[in-house]
Amino acid sequence: MKSNFLLQSLKDNGHTLTRPRRAICDLLLECGGHLSADQLVEKLQIEYPEIGRMTVYRTLDLLSSLGVLRAVYQGGGAAHYILLEGGHHHHLVCAICHRVIEIDQCLLQDATEQISRQYRFQILGHLLEILGVCEQCQAKTPLN
Ligand SMILES: [Zn+2]
Ligand SMILES: [Zn+2]
Ligand SMILES: [Zn+2]
Repeated sequence: MKSNFLLQSLKDNGHTLTRPRRAICDLLLECGGHLSADQLVEKLQIEYPEIGRMTVYRTLDLLSSLGVLRAVYQGGGAAHYILLEGGHHHHLVCAICHRVIEIDQCLLQDATEQISRQYRFQILGHLLEILGVCEQCQAKTPLN
């Protein structure tokens, strides 16, 4: 079984791995993130009806504070939670069709190290969002 970096981070930081926390972390990893707290509650309660909404919210906050999860607000809707596996996550976001393209490779390693030194900032992770126009939308609406 693939080790769960969310659970590992709770453990490393001295937090108890309660049954609800395990269930929440497992489900987050299974879905690959990209879902709101309410969507997570809905999926979770199929198997664990006893786990309450507040427990889910508190666990998401705790994971966010450890830098392994990040809430992202897109448009006017509820926040979506993005997994920062290995400390990072990268998106290309199309401003026209709102498509999100995942980028696996990290081009920021040097930049974050430099920022860390310059600002004496201990970096836990990064979430990169590059805004633009995707290939399909460029074909439909040529840029001037
Ligand atoms: Zn597009
Ligand atoms: Zn993503
Ligand atoms: Zn990265």
